[in-house]
Formats: sequence, structure tokens, C-alpha cells
Amino acid sequence: MLDPDNPYVLGPHLECAAAELSLTEADLDLFGPLARLTVDDLVRRGRLRRRPAGWYWTRRHRPDVDIRGVGGPPVRIVEASTGRLLGTVDASTSHSTVHRGAVYLHQGGSYVVIEFDLDAAVAFVEAATPDWTTVAREDTDIRVVESIRSRSAGDVELHLGTVEVSSQVVSYQRRLAGSGRVIGDDPLDLPARHLRTRAVWYTVTEELLAEAGIDDGEVPGAVHAAEHAAIGILPLFATCDRWDIGGVSTALHPDTSRTTVFVYDGYPGGAGFAERGFLRGGPWLRATRDVIAACECVAGCPSCVQSPKCGNGNEPLDKPAARRLLDAVLQRLDSAWSDSR
Ligand SMILES: [Zn+2]
Ligand SMILES: [Zn+2]
Repeated sequence: MLDPDNPYVLGPHLECAAAELSLTEADLDLFGPLARLTVDDLVRRGRLRRRPAGWYWTRRHRPDVDIRGVGGPPVRIVEASTGRLLGTVDASTSHSTVHRGAVYLHQGGSYVVIEFDLDAAVAFVEAATPDWTTVAREDTDIRVVESIRSRSAGDVELHLGTVEVSSQVVSYQRRLAGSGRVIGDDPLDLPARHLRTRAVWYTVTEELLAEAGIDDGEVPGAVHAAEHAAIGILPLFATCDRWDIGGVSTALHPDTSRTTVFVYDGYPGGAGFAERGFLRGGPWLRATRDVIAACECVAGCPSCVQSPKCGNGNEPLDKPAARRLLDAVLQRLDSAWSDSR
């Protein structure tokens, strides 16, 4: 999915266009309403030069645009016995999808990864139909580098800023197909990966949690469920896919000293999704609350608070507490902000 007005998408496209043939005023119309602002920004940053005939690319080499996103070349999936190339997966998701032991489904066929060669970016697989599926477990830490913009609503603060996300796939579970019962948990030796990107985050005070009737033991499940739902709903506000964004929630974050929910862009430098979340903070969190409140499940399901990409196996999740948390948050936003709806 693509938002053509996203400056992180539009900028590199304008650079590529200018590198092929200088850009004219008339060309800008083709690139949408934000093209002029973005071109001016590229001139300020020395990427383009303005001349009477138009805008020119200033560098000798071509603009560096990785259309597949981040994290290096895609990982090839190769059938070990035949050398046949079955397909590729993004480098960014490869650690959790094609680690050693992973069950990999491809066009109706079932394979098990027998070796994941990180340096060569190849996963060797063999056809196999075990009666289990695999789920990767991932540890994720987030550090606040700086808050760029913030808004306060008393017990709630909303921030947009730069963060550093460290994530490491540490093990994988084998679960029986059907019942989902865990039949094994095997460690993996994969390196941590680091991503400096943009995030939107909100913090809440202990007073707000107490008022919402969320005791210490319930906080992790409440914020985790609220985080998943917020990630699931952000694509309605920013043109993105839930796989383009990630999240971290914590009962007490060392950099904010508060209970905090982070949602970050899954691309180096950010891709504008978190920024949309910040700019439409009230409506976004309201839609998050509404999706939880409207879902008829009791304890949470994939339509509301469960996430298919959770690195913690969707634990803990406390749907009722998440709803009480978001109700209290929205009450603060409604009384402090005129644009909370
Ligand atoms: Zn549900
Ligand atoms: Zn999760």
C-alpha cells in the first residue's frame, strides 16, 4: 500500500524523476498537491537545484531508493534437495518467518526450514508436513531518542518523535495444528536488529490507571491489548498496512517514567504513518476504543486485540482493561482538546 502524499514516499520519487529529466512546474501537478512543498524541501537539503528551466538532480549517482523497504536484499527460499527457488521473503520479516525449524507454506505446499544462512540471505527448505505450526518469539526494546512534538491532556501525553527499536527473534514455539497446544519451545541464535525510526506514543499516569480500575497486575495486558488494537486501526488513518508498523507497550518505560504505548514506523527514518497517528491522535484512539468495544468476543480475538505478528504470542492481553484504559484516555482528550473527535 502506498500514500502518494507521504513526504517520505514522494521525496524519493521526485528525486528519481528529476534525475531522469529535469522537473518543470507543469510536472509538479502530476505528483499531487504536496509536490511543490516537497521539491522546495529537497532544494533546501541540497538534493535538487533550482534553475530557470526547472529542478535538477545534483548528485552524480542515481537516487538511492529501495522499493522493497528495508533491511537488505530479500531472502531466497531454496529447496535444498533440488536447488529450486521457491520464492523470497523480505529481509525485515525473514528472522521470524524462515528461521531454522520454521514451517513455511508456499503455494499450497508445506516446507520446513533446515538452514537459514544469514550472510548469503538464503533459507534452505525441505518439503514436509509436520502436524504443527511454528510461531517466532521476539524481544523488542524501544528507546526514546527525542520527542519532536507533544500534546498534553493532563494525565495523558501524546508524543511524536525519534526512537531506536531493537528486536531479536530469540526462540520459536511449535504448536499443534488445530488445538494450538504448545509442544515445544526451541531457542534460536539470531542477531538483534536495530531500527531508528519515527514513533507516536502516549503515556498515562498512575492516577488515570487507578481511576480506570486497572491494578498493577492488569496494566501489561491492558496496554498490550490497546497497542495491538491501535496498530490494527492505524491503516484507516494513514495509508499503510499493519505489517508496515510495529508497537511496544510497557507498564513503566524508563525514558518516559510512565505507562506507555508506542506505535512506530517499520522503516528507517520513518514513513509518515506514526506522524498521521499523532496528527489525528484523538480520532485514532477513539476508533481503537470503538473496535474493542464493538467486538462481541469475550477475551479478545483477531478482529480486535490479537495480532498475527505479535512477538509475545499474544500474551498477556486484557481486553476489558484495555477498554477501560482507552475510555479514561479519551475522557481526558475530550476535555482538553477541541479536535479530539
Ligand atoms: Zn474481538
Ligand atoms: Zn504483541
